[in-house]
Amino acid sequence: MERIEKMYIDGQWVPALAGKTRDVINPADASVLATIAEGAAEDVQLAVAAAKRAFYEDGWMVTPPSERARLMFALADSLEKRAEEFAKLETQNNGKALREAQCDVSDAVACFRYYAGLATKPHGQTYDVADPMQTLVVREPIGVCGQIVPWNYPLLMAAWKLAPALAAGNTVVFKPSELTPLTVIRLFELIDVVGYPKGVANLVLGAGDTVGHEIAANFDIDKVAFTGGTKTGRSIMMAATGNIKNISLELGGKSPNIIFADADFEAAVDWTLFAIFVNQGEVCSAGSRLLIEESIHDQFLERLVERTKQIKVGPGLEEDVEMGPLISETHLNRVLDYIELGKKEGARLVCGGNRILEGDLEKGYFVEPTIFIDTSPEMRIVQEEIFGPVLVVQKFKDEQEAVSLANNTIYGLAGGVFTQDGAKGLRVIKKLRAGITWINAYNPTYNEAPWGGYKQSGLGRELGTFGFEEYTEVKQININLEPSPLGWFKE
Ligand code: NAD
Repeated sequence: MERIEKMYIDGQWVPALAGKTRDVINPADASVLATIAEGAAEDVQLAVAAAKRAFYEDGWMVTPPSERARLMFALADSLEKRAEEFAKLETQNNGKALREAQCDVSDAVACFRYYAGLATKPHGQTYDVADPMQTLVVREPIGVCGQIVPWNYPLLMAAWKLAPALAAGNTVVFKPSELTPLTVIRLFELIDVVGYPKGVANLVLGAGDTVGHEIAANFDIDKVAFTGGTKTGRSIMMAATGNIKNISLELGGKSPNIIFADADFEAAVDWTLFAIFVNQGEVCSAGSRLLIEESIHDQFLERLVERTKQIKVGPGLEEDVEMGPLISETHLNRVLDYIELGKKEGARLVCGGNRILEGDLEKGYFVEPTIFIDTSPEMRIVQEEIFGPVLVVQKFKDEQEAVSLANNTIYGLAGGVFTQDGAKGLRVIKKLRAGITWINAYNPTYNEAPWGGYKQSGLGRELGTFGFEEYTEVKQININLEPSPLGWFKE
């Protein structure tokens, strides 16, 4: 492993100005995968200067949408051609099972294609106001956008951010998580090859409190778009006040998955597994609180525990592995601490609860899929985001109690309801204070539909036309069709 991965600033691959580097770890065995540049505030400043010049002086802000679409379709095609290589690298760096990384790559390709298409579609409005005026409303790019993403979906989160921003005509300064930069570095190699003008898309590598903070605080960045924890979101919001930046935040969750007694039993069990254990539970929208109607509680749990015990945990690249390691030793310890806390709080463990130390798994950060029952709403394991494969179960008597338990959280990202009563499903979903919901499913995500949360789960929406609009300013243009003196003031 001799390669040092550099940053991409103003169309060049450059080391950090201070010459610092950082090792990137494979969470399945703690081996070093790569050494990368470790940037700092001054590297962000260089990238911002390039992005500003590319936007205002080099003309990216007036590049025809058809050209922005052409470049983005080319990017999608080149990513698709190397899909398997990207998927394997994502699994090595993030830990997730290969089949999940493969889905992430194809979702990223589809996201670039969606926004490439959207770039050329109509976006404005016209108003017939009082004669002789005509009013047009146009959408324009915001300018230089700073973008910061977490480690749980490194490539996909990059696509969700870069695609709408570039399609709408902005320039970007992008920061991946310091733990998972590898697929994003490869993505910027493709951005370079397909021919984006220099300075339009810049990649700065480094830590949150240095590179991330500078992105949030820099006065020449017009918008900051962030995905990550709620606490970090709060500090980004504060750092962004200096120049009244436009902000969008996709934050944490503790989302309810509600199972009514009349649900299709096997379907509900199966989706419940997917809701919490996909991507090792490191999913912002995870159905991490399972609410079960009292009358089927025991029967449902028995089947759920039986299925959970069959989940094959191991290195993501190994065949048939269904759940990989957690991202880092620090995060593993955080999740294990929550499991200890749950026991102390009086919840009962019915499945998992341990680090896996068998054979070679000892080297990595593997934890058993875990389920707690006998919880109460005020317990910290019920209220706080654990961000791992830990499910907490709550019991409810009727529809009203289900809704009140479901909404008893500072978060409002997602939620699901399982029932065969269509009216009840919709009634309950409409009472959930959450931005992303499912009936008789959990977690499927579509590029076409807006993604984002209520309450402390965030601000704004990604994906769909909503996600595109987040990267635009709205301008009204009022035209006098019959210019003549107004006569308001006497001559
Ligand atoms: P995190 O908040 O620790 O870090 C996210 C990113 O922010 C990283 O790139 C990090 O370097 C950077 N960062 C950290 N401190 C910063 C600071 N002070 N200023 C600027 N940037 C800073 O989150 P994480 O641990 O990487 O990811 C897990 C969190 O992300 C979970 O809370 C999860 O729910 C959330 N998440 C949300 C969504 C969503 O769409 N709502 C999607 C994925 C993950």
